[in-house]
Amino acid sequence: MIPEPAFRRVADRYPFALTPHYASLFNQSDPEDPLALMVMPDEREMEASPDLGVDPLEEDAHSPLPRVIRRYRSRILLVATGQCACYCRFCLRKRISDKVGPVSGKQLQDVVSYLSGRPEIDEVLVSGGDPLTLSDQKLDSVLAAMKSAGNVEILRIGTRMPAVQPSRITPELVKIVSDYKPVFVLTHFNHPRELTAEARAACAMFIDTGIVCLNQSVLLAGVNDDTDTLASLFNGLLKWRIRPYYLFQCDLVEGVNHFRTPLKKGVQIMRELSVRLGGLALPKFVVDLPGGRGKVPVNDSHVSFEKDGRVRIRGFDGSTYDYPDIE
Ligand SMILES: *Cc1c(COP(=O)(O)O)cnc(C)c1O
Ligand code: SF4
Repeated sequence: MIPEPAFRRVADRYPFALTPHYASLFNQSDPEDPLALMVMPDEREMEASPDLGVDPLEEDAHSPLPRVIRRYRSRILLVATGQCACYCRFCLRKRISDKVGPVSGKQLQDVVSYLSGRPEIDEVLVSGGDPLTLSDQKLDSVLAAMKSAGNVEILRIGTRMPAVQPSRITPELVKIVSDYKPVFVLTHFNHPRELTAEARAACAMFIDTGIVCLNQSVLLAGVNDDTDTLASLFNGLLKWRIRPYYLFQCDLVEGVNHFRTPLKKGVQIMRELSVRLGGLALPKFVVDLPGGRGKVPVNDSHVSFEKDGRVRIRGFDGSTYDYPDIE
């Protein structure tokens, strides 16, 4: 751990929180422990970089009303709270973590009015922050409000709780969530050492009630930027019946210089993973573009449309195949 004054300086700038469960997973003898790296303040977070910004995806500009981020026609993201059990040092929304508390009843009502006038929105992603930091009762009222706008058919809950505080997943909580099916729980595991027995039991509680769990990971230098680590993470999740959904290129948010990986490296890792893993274990590798332009897959392209009209497809072994296309 870094010396106290430096720790304070960094934690004053970007909030720090750590659960006993997550701390218990650290490898104390490794000064570069990937799990500690994800949550412990680090002086490298203070490095400035012209590529990095406070709100790199311009979410604030895509917020039609408080608590709502809308970048797609059919779905919105609800910031249910800014708070989390642990603060990931690479968090895209670190600008709100200690500034935005639980969503108020009045704000929820405004979101419901917004949704009711927009029948094209049929999905709400309840996110934050971590919505499972809310009390059971508050979470229930958030989910009820979203469903009360008659057009909303699908709910998603994005949470890192199963990784950082699996004891938060109780039978009472699971009962509340499962009453809003179809509801999808998007977990956030980044490293195979986060796949503990406690986390497994927490996820199984959701899945056993018919809630579909998907996982989103962030590609992070020094944490999981190698094929073996990610293969073991994705295979481990699949065995738990959690489908790897997205692998994100680290967002260009301030303080993440030391987590950045070259895009080329991510594409190379994905190329290796696509040979090693079954399709069920393979997430989409995406870059989230600023300006509301959304998540864009950046996997290798296997197809080329030649000027002379020929279509060539490249296999994983590097060989090419002239596909007999039709007009
Ligand atoms: C990621 C995201 C979504 C969901 O996108 P999917 O590709 O459907 O997973 C919706 N709204 C916002 C603002 C998002 O950032
Ligand atoms: S759990 Fe999610 S919202 Fe919370 S700090 Fe980590 S990445 Fe950010």
